Amino acid sequence: MIVSKVSKYNTLNDFLKSKTFMKIALSMTGCKNNRYELDQILRWAIKNKVPVVEESEADFAIINTCTVTSIADRKSRQLVRRTRNNNSGLKTIVFGCAARAQKKVFEEITEVDVLLGSMQEVITYLESNISDMKKCDDASLITSGEAFTRSRALVQIQDGCDNYCSYCIIASARGKSKNRPQKEIINEINKHVANGFNEVVLTGINIGAYGASLTTRPDENKFAELLEAIFEQTGIKKVRAGSLGPEFFNEKWYKVMQNPRFSRHLHLSIQSGSDSVLKRMRRNYTAGQVTDVIKKLRGISPDIAITADIIVGFPGETEAEFKETVQFVKKNRLAKTHIFPYSERQNTLAAKMEQVPVKLRRERVKKLQEVADICRSEFIKSQLGKKAEVLWEHSRLSGRAEGVTENYIRVRVMGARTAGSITSEVLTTENIDTLL
Ligand code: SF4
Repeated sequence: MIVSKVSKYNTLNDFLKSKTFMKIALSMTGCKNNRYELDQILRWAIKNKVPVVEESEADFAIINTCTVTSIADRKSRQLVRRTRNNNSGLKTIVFGCAARAQKKVFEEITEVDVLLGSMQEVITYLESNISDMKKCDDASLITSGEAFTRSRALVQIQDGCDNYCSYCIIASARGKSKNRPQKEIINEINKHVANGFNEVVLTGINIGAYGASLTTRPDENKFAELLEAIFEQTGIKKVRAGSLGPEFFNEKWYKVMQNPRFSRHLHLSIQSGSDSVLKRMRRNYTAGQVTDVIKKLRGISPDIAITADIIVGFPGETEAEFKETVQFVKKNRLAKTHIFPYSERQNTLAAKMEQVPVKLRRERVKKLQEVADICRSEFIKSQLGKKAEVLWEHSRLSGRAEGVTENYIRVRVMGARTAGSITSEVLTTENIDTLL
């Protein structure tokens, strides 16, 4: 447990004593894992009658931070400072990946009042500080938590990673891989079904490794078994998976993924299309193996959207290696590519390798983005005239409803649609949001 800022604790105690009840605001940077953790804090707040409000009205701002890149670090620090500057009367509770990995840096930030490691530590801190407080009896304040309700529910199945890819700081920030018991996951999904959710997204740091003793043991994974159990023991209509490592795919996966309740969208954590770069990254697969996975998936479901993360400008990346990645994206017709310029993270192996100049990294992002945009546009055009299931996210005041197809195309229509409902729509140039 990281508890810093001890010198401020007396002031904090006085601050807490001056309150009749506690109001909190929630904010974050980063990925679906951070979102999931804030959702858990939100649930705790609703259960304990702790109002979740805008930052301007809050006593405490709870901020979940991200450290995946140096930009994410900067955004996390900016978020903490901005939150406090917008309401000088509130106290901040900062936790998450950046808070853990950059503990010393966050300890120095004057706007940080309480520095903690995990979501559970935040809940424990809140619990120990509300025990003497009056419960809030203003029902209008309590229901404000609904503002965070979304059309799909996130379910964390796993946390942490043991791989130590040479560029990644997440493994040290999140610790070793921990699997959630299957029963707990099933119960959580059933609760979401009872609350009206039609879709869940399975999240985690390395979810393909679900069930394995270590994320470095793909052969032990029980991800397919988990999906089977979800389909058998819950009534959820759609299951979407977060990012998956290509090394975990096996025949059981291909079989269970044929279930129509599994979304026809897979996001692969590919990172490079060059074998030599993948090796330096310490990734456990080759570009050819990923191509085989994609071919098999298209064989099962021709309209599946395969999206991916790619890092360009990795240390030592030559022009020829970069071209291999460009060819890979083209050849595999990725439906969307999230391209990141390589970002040095302290205390990683890659940070000690020969670096590609930042300007060149940016140029390569631009070049690959052009290719990725063409692939995205071609994928969307290939879906025109076809029927797709759409999960509606919201209806706007303008009378337009907005949602996402199960194969990851954003659509807009005139007319009302209930948020969270799923309908079948024919995709046309009129209802597709953009051809990109
Ligand atoms: S698989 Fe590699 S990149 Fe992904 S979290 Fe683990 S160490 Fe980081």
